[in-house]
Amino acid sequence: MTTMNMHTIPNCSPKRAHYDAIIIGARCAGASTALLLSRAGLKVLAIERRPYGSDTLSTHALMRPAVLQLSRWGLLKPLIDAGTPLIEATTFHYGDEEITIPLRAGPDLPGLIAPRRTVLDRILVDAARKAGAEFLHDTAVADLFADTQGRVRGVEIRAAGGAPLRVSADIVVGADGIGSLVARSCDAQVLQRGTVSAAHVYGYAPVEPGAGYHWYFREGIAGSFIPTNEGLACIVASVPTTLFDERFRGNHEQARMDVLAALSPALAVQASRAAKDCRLQVFRGVPGFLRHAYGPGWALVGDAGFFRDPITSHGISDALRDAEALAHAILDGSEAALEAYQQERNLIASQVLDTTDAVAGFDWTLGDIGEKHRRFSAVMKAEVQALTEREMPIHGVAFSRLLQGRPAAHRQPASQVKPPAAGGSSTHRNRMGIGP
Ligand SMILES: Cc1cc2nc3c(=O)[nH]c(=O)nc-3n(C[C@H](O)[C@H](O)[C@H](O)COP(=O)(O)OP(=O)(O)OC[C@H]3O[C@@H](n4cnc5c(N)ncnc54)[C@H](O)[C@@H]3O)c2cc1C
Repeated sequence: MTTMNMHTIPNCSPKRAHYDAIIIGARCAGASTALLLSRAGLKVLAIERRPYGSDTLSTHALMRPAVLQLSRWGLLKPLIDAGTPLIEATTFHYGDEEITIPLRAGPDLPGLIAPRRTVLDRILVDAARKAGAEFLHDTAVADLFADTQGRVRGVEIRAAGGAPLRVSADIVVGADGIGSLVARSCDAQVLQRGTVSAAHVYGYAPVEPGAGYHWYFREGIAGSFIPTNEGLACIVASVPTTLFDERFRGNHEQARMDVLAALSPALAVQASRAAKDCRLQVFRGVPGFLRHAYGPGWALVGDAGFFRDPITSHGISDALRDAEALAHAILDGSEAALEAYQQERNLIASQVLDTTDAVAGFDWTLGDIGEKHRRFSAVMKAEVQALTEREMPIHGVAFSRLLQGRPAAHRQPASQVKPPAAGGSSTHRNRMGIGP
């Protein structure tokens, strides 16, 4: 059985004893999945250990696939209304050479956006709540529980010093990030491993309105300039993890400034305009991975199932794309649909991982980095094409299909509102070690 030290106490109790779906983690993957399932009529509980509207370790440049998804979910306008600037051009700086690519705008895509996570994650949660999803923030899931056949049946929330609280569901979705409890508890097999990792150190500085994305590359180092909310730009220095360990430890500020100055003196000047109390955020790097995406009673979405280095700014696009595909599969309810979700995800994720590692490995030259970007761009183009051909999960899909093929004992409609149970003995530890 996996256990966690609990530092957070549930701020309120779930309203039901049983849900159609419980989602662990309520950021871009979890809140999006909750939104789409709730809009289709399912009873959904999302549990997040961090506060509502909190920030997280992530820059937030959205690529075309993420913006298209948000647009068709009706969330692009609220994001723009929240003061997120539209980005109409991307400039690649290869050494001293500059290549500016204007955005091909369309009705669903007036520009790219890079909303702060405090804005994006909150708007996703608000939309899901409006659609009927229930959220528990400041609340951590301590464990999963399973039946004697090993099928995951729900989650255990344990308050410090208090009795564990069990809530059951037809499916438990791990949208719980890189260190996913669901992946660990269910022994989700790693299908593909990345080969490299890069460190990213970022902070915020004021920017003039109308700025675009800027991506900087010189041998062995890279940087980004990402205009965002509140008149600020996120300015990132990126280096191989090995270089970070040698040069950054102990003095992130100076080491980041040195990298920015080497990339572009103007970028370093821009970064030096940061407010005095602006704290840098530091990510040392983690090699990418692609995990098995589902099993009996559980599924993974977002970084929990697929992580790629942030250097190609594609994690949020991956999370939104896979949230929609997983929602389709859950609404279908068959194992074949979950397998199709996994296959569809793997097809694109594997290419995203390979083409991202080709950039994050820093073994390119200024002569061939452009070609690596073109390969990544071709993958994104195919991804956008597949997204536009995909139908949205719709309201009214027969939820009874979700229950097909499951044991009669499992058919506990979520509409029967019962108070959640304190941790009991009616389920048993399964062979994977999940249980009370
Ligand atoms: C430095 C950095 C820069 C990045 N820059 C970009 C970028 O520019 N563009 C882009 O598209 N992507 C970027 N990414 C990637 C992006 O941040 C992730 O892909 C994205 O956050 C994944 O979303 P998620 O919802 O799957 O996971 P997360 O955002 O990690 O959310 C998981 C949530 O689960 C919660 N949780 C975990 N365990 C439990 C538990 N037991 N109980 C309750 N809650 C739990 C956590 O509190 C967390 O809030 C970056 C990542 C990093 C690290």
